[in-house]
Amino acid sequence: MSDHYSAKRLPVDPGQTGWLNIIEKVPSYPTLEQNISADWVIIGGGFTGLSAAKQLAYKGGSGLSIALLEASQIGAGPAGRNSGFMIDLPHALGGDSYVGDLSSDREQIRLNRIAQRFATDAAKEYQMPDHCVDKSGKINASVDYNGQHHNDIYAKQLDELGETYSMLSSDDMQAITGSQFYSGGLYTPGTILLQPAEYITRLARGVCQRKPQLQIFEHSPALSFTRVGKHWVIKTQHGSVTAEGIIIAANGHAESFGFYQNRLMHVFTYASMTRPLTASQQKMIGGDERWGITPSDPMGTTIRRINTPEGNRIVIRNGWSFDPSMQISPSRIENYVKSHRLSFNRRYPELHDVDFEYSWGGRLCLSRNTVPAFGWVDKNVISACCQNGLGTAQGTLAGMAAADLAMDRNTEVITYLTNHDAPSKLPPRVLSYIGANATIKIKEFRARKEM
Ligand SMILES: Cc1cc2nc3c(=O)[nH]c(=O)nc-3n(C[C@H](O)[C@H](O)[C@H](O)COP(=O)(O)OP(=O)(O)OC[C@H]3O[C@@H](n4cnc5c(N)ncnc54)[C@H](O)[C@@H]3O)c2cc1C
Repeated sequence: MSDHYSAKRLPVDPGQTGWLNIIEKVPSYPTLEQNISADWVIIGGGFTGLSAAKQLAYKGGSGLSIALLEASQIGAGPAGRNSGFMIDLPHALGGDSYVGDLSSDREQIRLNRIAQRFATDAAKEYQMPDHCVDKSGKINASVDYNGQHHNDIYAKQLDELGETYSMLSSDDMQAITGSQFYSGGLYTPGTILLQPAEYITRLARGVCQRKPQLQIFEHSPALSFTRVGKHWVIKTQHGSVTAEGIIIAANGHAESFGFYQNRLMHVFTYASMTRPLTASQQKMIGGDERWGITPSDPMGTTIRRINTPEGNRIVIRNGWSFDPSMQISPSRIENYVKSHRLSFNRRYPELHDVDFEYSWGGRLCLSRNTVPAFGWVDKNVISACCQNGLGTAQGTLAGMAAADLAMDRNTEVITYLTNHDAPSKLPPRVLSYIGANATIKIKEFRARKEM
């Protein structure tokens, strides 16, 4: 506990996210340039911050004022940089398999579906187009015997969980993807495929239009917050908000304010989006126009095909790096683009001359023991951070729960997010840097056929 917290680092988002750049109309919000008051301030406008804002605005009544401070632009941060898989089933990224033990998996599924319902309700209420929140399922694709083995284990676990799925042959995979690359797949119907930047920007606009008690400020990073009597004063470069409480929805940047020191792992992953395929290129490869594939080995390549008014595009994501500084150099993106190119050409050799129009990297926050950094961290300050790489669902849940906690409500999501240990301590920085990057490289080598 302290009377003053200041941000040691502010977010830097490397490269241009394709998802945001292909949307036509993106609303913009003012920069905070005066001193205002609000009941609650939310720091961060990603899945967590905006879900908290919606929950507070809808459940807190019209008398409750909320100011949301976003350091950059809504949709330009990690929330608009991810691959858009809002997965209902267990999907642990750290291990060798996606699943864990049955009872915690069951609980996870139930809660993930609460997050999905939040997104589908928002999509309906704010009349988002179908492709924005598309419950079309996903395929866990394999390329060889090892991948098939991962999928067989996954299928057995899904049987025990009573979850439906279907196994796909290499011919099925080719019919769907237009690529001969895959040897098989496991299709599960419950995943929502988001256009992440469009979902996030429409969520922000939808809440603001219906609930004027929410004010969003872009390009307004919270630089510090100080206790003054019963209130907190949150300072930005040109203004301030005096508030009763704060929800920190800045994911790994909670640590920049001094919370969870040396307990959060800051990781980057990388993605590229092609320019639109021409009609003849689409015809040449065939396949469906909209699908999403996760690799059967968590360290492999995630790939989506999306249809936009200009034509189909392919979005490819692979490569991981552990960066405690939370910043990477632009040349790092160039290296990963080479890896994306190789992965793309292996799947679509006939499209080798199709350029990537956008390439980017994005931050994730993990904890060693895969738990969130959630709960009260000072008087009237709630942390809703560390989504362990699954922020579309976990961030939505954390935002909903943070808002309910702020309103003194008790919910099963709060119980779920608070009923575990704190994020465990990391080894000294140098050791964790070397150790984590070496582990990533070894795991990526093992998953090389799925790259
Ligand atoms: C390439 C890539 C692919 C991914 N794919 C998936 C996927 O398919 N499915 C999935 O579930 N997850 C995926 N993720 C992870 C997912 O994007 C994150 O888990 C999610 O964005 C976390 O949501 P959040 O709202 O908690 O944090 P963020 O989205 O990081 O939002 C936090 C916001 O806080 C802002 N902020 C930080 N500091 C301050 C400050 N001082 N003042 C004001 N604002 C501040 C940031 O600018 C940011 O906008 C992927 C990530 C990447 C990079």
